[in-house]
Parts: sequence; C-alpha cells; structure tokens
Amino acid sequence: MALSQKLGRLIGVREQVVDPGGGGAPRVARQTTAVVVGGGIAGMSAAVVLAERGVDVTVLEAAPTLGGRLGAWPEALADGSQVNEHGFHAFFRQYYNWRSILRRVDPTLGFLKPIPGYPILSAQWPTEEFGRLPPAPPVNLLALLLRSPSLRLTDLRGMDRDAALPLLSYDPVRTYAEFDDTTADTLLASLKLPDRARAMLFEVFSHSFFNHEAEMSAAEMIAQFHFYLLGNPEGLAFDCPDEDYATAIWQPLTRHVAQHGGRVRTGVAATRLDREPDGWRVTTADGTVHPAGHVVLAVDPPALAALVAASPGLVAAAPELVVRMPAFGRPGPPYAVARYWLDGDVRADRAVFSGVSRQPTLDSVTLYHRLENESRRWAQRTGGAVVELHAYACDEGVPAGELAERMRAELVGLWPEVAGLGVRELRARVEAQAPAFTPGSHAGRPGVRTDADGLYLAGDGIGTDFPSALMERSAATGIIAANHILRAEGAAAEPVHSVRPRGLLAGK
Ligand SMILES: Cc1cc2nc3c(=O)[nH]c(=O)nc-3n(C[C@H](O)[C@H](O)[C@H](O)COP(=O)(O)OP(=O)(O)OC[C@H]3O[C@@H](n4cnc5c(N)ncnc54)[C@H](O)[C@@H]3O)c2cc1C
Repeated sequence: MALSQKLGRLIGVREQVVDPGGGGAPRVARQTTAVVVGGGIAGMSAAVVLAERGVDVTVLEAAPTLGGRLGAWPEALADGSQVNEHGFHAFFRQYYNWRSILRRVDPTLGFLKPIPGYPILSAQWPTEEFGRLPPAPPVNLLALLLRSPSLRLTDLRGMDRDAALPLLSYDPVRTYAEFDDTTADTLLASLKLPDRARAMLFEVFSHSFFNHEAEMSAAEMIAQFHFYLLGNPEGLAFDCPDEDYATAIWQPLTRHVAQHGGRVRTGVAATRLDREPDGWRVTTADGTVHPAGHVVLAVDPPALAALVAASPGLVAAAPELVVRMPAFGRPGPPYAVARYWLDGDVRADRAVFSGVSRQPTLDSVTLYHRLENESRRWAQRTGGAVVELHAYACDEGVPAGELAERMRAELVGLWPEVAGLGVRELRARVEAQAPAFTPGSHAGRPGVRTDADGLYLAGDGIGTDFPSALMERSAATGIIAANHILRAEGAAAEPVHSVRPRGLLAGK
C-alpha cells in the first residue's frame, strides 16, 4: 500500500461498505421470476446477482449485441472484419461494484491492464499529467497543487478559498441542498482560478460526465470531484481491457448467467409494461408477453421515458415514476465517437489515452492499436494505426461525419504528424443517451425502488445515496435492484461498496 493510501486510511479514505449483503438463504426458496429490460452494465449486473441466487431471470436487450454504451460488435472493413465498440472506457479502481461483477468471469481481473499516464493535451499550454499523482487524498491534492504547471503559489493566493471549500466538503444531503440549483460553470467561475488552471484541471473533468458546464448542476460536479479525486484511495489511474468488450466482458458474462439458469435475449425490445393482480407482464416488439414477479428497467434515460409512456397502466401502478419521466428522459447533449483506421502511426511517444482541453469538439484521443489485441494485430499487419476520437458534449444537429472530421482536424493541431496519415476506414456515430444532470434535477431523480411493488430501476442516471458515477453507478444500481428482489424473496443480498461517503472537510 502506498504511503499516501496509508495516510488516507487514517482519515477514512478507504473502501466503505454501503450494504454488507447476506441476511438470507443462499438461494431463493420458491420459484421466483424476474425480467431485466436492457442488457448494458446495469441490466447484466442485476442479472448476474439474481441468477446466482436461483432467480429465474430473463434479460431482454433491444440491440443485436449486449453492452449498451459499453457495447461491441463486428464491423466489416475492406481488408477484413474488426470489432468496433461504442467507445473507449476507463475502468477506474474505485469501481468496486463493477469490478466485483467482472471478477465473476476473471477472478484476478487479469484482462484489465493499467494505462500508463493520463495526460491532458492543450494547444495553448504544456501537457498536464493526471495519472502519476499519488493515489489517495490529501496527498494527491497537495501534489496536484504543488506539481501542476497550471497552478502557481501566486495563483493559489489569488483564488477564492472560501468558494473552493464546497469541493472538499461533499455531503450527500447538504451539497445538493446548497448547490443543485447552481451551474458547474458558476461554481468554477467563483473559484477565480487562472484561465489555464480552469481549462487544464477542471473543464476536462466536467466534460467527462457528458454535460456542458453551463447546463450541469454544481452539486453533481462536487459529487464527482469527490468520487474521482478526493474521496477514494485508488487515485485517478485506471485500467482497460486488452480485448474488445464483447470478448472480455459480454460473452463470458452471458455464459455465467446461462450457467446459473438465466437467459439473455438480444434483438428483443420491450415495448410495454403492465401490472396484473399476479405480477408484471413485459410485452416485446414481436408481441410475446413475458410474465414476471419482478421487473428491473435497466435502460438509458430516453428509453426509460419512452417505455413508461408506452405503458398506460403505470399511471395507476407507478404514478410517481410516470410524473418524473418527462424531465428525466431528456438526455444530456449529443456525444460523438469516431474510430479511424489510418495508414500510418502517430509518434511513438504519444500516450495510449489523452484528454484534450479547450478544443471546440475533441475531448479525448485513444490509440487502440496500443491498447487492444485485435487492433494491435491489424496495425502490425498493415503498418497502420487505430485511433478513436471522442467529443463528450457536442452541439446539437451536427452530423457524425462532420464531427469526426472536426475532431481529426483539431487533433492535427495537437499532433501534427496526423496530417500525413491517410484514412483507410472511418466509423463515426453521434448519439444522445447519457443522463442529464441539469441544475435542480436532483430532487426529481428516480432511485432504484419505484412506487410500484416489484418494479425497480437501474442505470447511470438513477440516483444513489452514496458516491458513484457512470459505469460504477450502473453496476451498483443493478446490484441494488437485485438486492431488493432477493430480500423480498428471503435470499441473501449482495454486498455493495463505495468510497468515503463525505468530503474531507464535510464535518459531522
Ligand atoms: C463514448 C463513451 C465513453 C464513455 N467512457 C466512460 C468511461 O471512461 N468510464 C466510465 O465509467 N463510463 C464511461 N461511459 C459511460 C458508460 O458507458 C455508461 O455509464 C454505462 O455504460 C451505462 O450503462 P447502463 O447499463 O446504465 O446503460 P446502457 O449502456 O445505455 O444500457 C441500456 C441498454 O438498454 C437497451 N434498451 C433500451 N431500450 C430498450 C428496450 N425497450 N428493450 C430492451 N432493451 C432496451 C439498450 O439497447 C442498452 O443496451 C462512456 C460512455 C460513452 C458513450
């Protein structure tokens, strides 16, 4: 354990138990059926836990392949097939619940390889390195303040320290009461940071949550700052699979669910949900009706709102859920992903993953041929490179091809050698499925339990009363949904973990 982690433990920066689990039989005693709608991280996490405890669980996934926003599918290229993915993902080390699901298929998590470094690139300023900070607070914060070229002591003196206190004082109730109506933009402006520090240290961070700062709740930004930087003992370093997500995650998890008697159906969209006296009915696009004692809706926010709107019976069965949907179902801004197969390589010293600051479109660059085995083999065979570009919060209405070209042109400004590389293949997408964390949205955010018996929600937009975000929130809410069902049926629940629940200066 690193010295900073030992120091961190003294002040409670450690993995925390949110729910110890247990408390029941190893398996459900009577025949229990559950339908999980959505086969992304949230739905499959719920299904894994339910199947292991003997619940007769069926996952219905609308897309032809599993994974949702972590999906992967075969793509026919001119010189052979390659797996393409929904986009690069950083598997942070405080993702305790997601990692516990992944350990079912690889107990040592050997397929997750550490990514060296986490540089932030800028056209204006020197690169900032996030990945080599000591892991745990408060030492990581001090190191950031002392080492960062974006912040000098004079800057710190000019900063409004009172305005910065909320960042160190995350509290699951007070932070939302005080800051949910403020925008992240207003909070950052109030810090009076020099422009460079704001751009290099904060803006990259808030963009990673798929929301514009001017439209994101300041309370959510404080919560994420706590979850990723100030409240966890693992640091900002992260790992990534060395195989594509279908090979490393979705195929083995599907086998695991099947080995425990569950079923995973792809290409099957749920179109309607009804409450009957003896339980739930989930109707799918082909007209099949799936009866279930319990239902977990683990779909993205727009899909959840659409499914609820198409289920008129929920007005009586789950009135509170129905009322919350119109606001919840509006996603955050569009995000764009462009994967380029290029005819030559970038410089050898370019990092596998880089964040990008203050470009109009481009937010990150990933060198897949230095990350995943299949891309590596393609690059060795062809002498090329597989480069993925992301924009996390784009303008509305711009086509995917145009966003891809804008991102490529912006990358040329940062890495000039890209100008000389020809494009052999391009797959570009723009989508809007990420949850919005708009100011004032916290009070109306649905939690895992709905107002209807036996109906639960899971996903990265669903509220938790402990720190969590993105993939980790999806896994945690999936497990919590399964736990509600298991407890209702007298079976043992699954443990749930998180980071330090409150900020270092949050007081009692
Ligand atoms: C480009 C990109 C990069 C990202 N990078 C990171 C990262 O680095 N780190 C991180 O932690 N997170 C990252 N994320 C976020 C992460 O992908 C999500 O938080 C997570 O995958 C959400 O999982 P989910 O199961 O909640 O939802 P989803 O993945 O959206 O799954 C919902 C599923 O429901 C299905 N569905 C919808 N409607 C129906 C229906 N009617 N019937 C049946 N099925 C239906 C969908 O097809 C989908 O498969 C990134 C996201 C994107 C888009």
